Amino acid sequence: MVLLVVGTGYVGLVTGACLAEMGHTVICLDINKDKIQALRSGKIPIYEPGLEEMVTRNTVDGRLQFSDSYDHAVPQADVCFMAVDTPSGDNGEASLKSLFSALQSIAERMTRSLIFVNKSTVPVGTCAQVSEFVAKTLAARNVKIPYEVVSNPEFLKEGNAVQDCMKPDRILIGTNSAEAAEVMKSIYAPFMLSHERIIVMDPASAEMTKYAANSMLATRISFMNEMAGLCELNGADINKVRVGMGADSRIGYTYLYPGLGYGGSCLPKDVKALMHHAGEHEMEMPLLSAVEGINERQKQSLGEKIIRYFGGDLAVNTVAILGLSFKPGTDDMRFAPSLVLIRQLLALGAKVRLFDPVAMKAASQIIPDHENITWCESEMEAVLDADAVALVTEWKQFRFLNFTALLENMRGNAFFDGRNQYDPKEMAKRGFDYFSIGRKPLHTKSPIQN
Ligand code: NAD
Repeated sequence: MVLLVVGTGYVGLVTGACLAEMGHTVICLDINKDKIQALRSGKIPIYEPGLEEMVTRNTVDGRLQFSDSYDHAVPQADVCFMAVDTPSGDNGEASLKSLFSALQSIAERMTRSLIFVNKSTVPVGTCAQVSEFVAKTLAARNVKIPYEVVSNPEFLKEGNAVQDCMKPDRILIGTNSAEAAEVMKSIYAPFMLSHERIIVMDPASAEMTKYAANSMLATRISFMNEMAGLCELNGADINKVRVGMGADSRIGYTYLYPGLGYGGSCLPKDVKALMHHAGEHEMEMPLLSAVEGINERQKQSLGEKIIRYFGGDLAVNTVAILGLSFKPGTDDMRFAPSLVLIRQLLALGAKVRLFDPVAMKAASQIIPDHENITWCESEMEAVLDADAVALVTEWKQFRFLNFTALLENMRGNAFFDGRNQYDPKEMAKRGFDYFSIGRKPLHTKSPIQN
């Protein structure tokens, strides 16, 4: 059986590599010729721990190939995993442009029976639309070729994608065809050796599960950020509240971290897409609207603290920003909170000095050139002559910063911790004016009160 993975982004490349690692023959196809060229010469276009070794190993062993040609790939394929992007359209809807363009390329070329497996995150009803689209394309070609369409939403987390793909919490298979379900189970069997985690359901429920799961995660984050906002006013400490809440087995500790709001390529667009989808059914989603509103506000919150601290005008101030990617472990900059902070600071005339352990290249591609931006090669270079440091992405290497050297290199002593990485009292003892999320700020000699 030859598995074709269409789209070699975060999901497609990881899925293709992991399927090959388990012994399958896989072709990864993308219309981005540069990406395919790079992959063929062993260069991985994204940062994802463990991925490069896996891609190299499986390419050398001949189980994993890369192609930019539908003509070459489609005739060989038995199963097509669709892993193309589904970004937000103008009204928040999931744009299915890439998906249908890829489907057309396949349906125009398929010569034998095929299973289309939809890994991209798509609204409920898309499997049915895909089926209709393929039927029409085949009818226009005047050919009859059997095919099935299966929903198989992806749940991997960037930064841990290889692990998640190799040891998934669950594999959802959305199909009404017992035969297609059997083929899918056989493909995923090598991933299920410790115990079965395949859940078979109808396509609509599988599609809905993906949106419901991401909306739940976004809700937990916004919930904690709302609680953190109140803690800043009433003197409670959100970190302690999190531990107290999480100890309840009905709640648990995960996804309850206050911070700078959710970003990345999934939660923001999926919450929007689900609200748009509900709108098509003339239903409002007040809960998700609030989740989104809180998130937008939260992304501004660190910038607002910095602006208040410096009295509203930052023309003479320099802020070092540590961490740019939307979360640690990835170079993905899509909807990263750092982008909002940088915009806020530049708008008030601040100079910003940027550093991220892996996302510098990705960040420089989307942050427009600006005379007040300095790109730095280390955290120590970033803090040079800075009046304040803003910790935005909690990379592990920032956990044990050399605070003495940091203060020596800085001009000021303000530290804005967007991820609650440090103990406020310790930071005050070290000589910082320290601000975090949902905890009382500790100042030694701040000019302006929080
Ligand atoms: P991505 O933007 O990183 O990659 C998409 C790839 O598809 C690109 O390389 C693009 O060139 C390619 N592509 C676009 N049109 C094509 C076409 N017609 N033919 C062939 N290739 C084409 O996207 P991603 O982050 O991997 O996400 C893919 C899907 O998976 C989305 O629906 C996303 O919501 C979902 N998803 C993403 C994640 C994640 O963490 N990134 C997790 C779960 C689900």
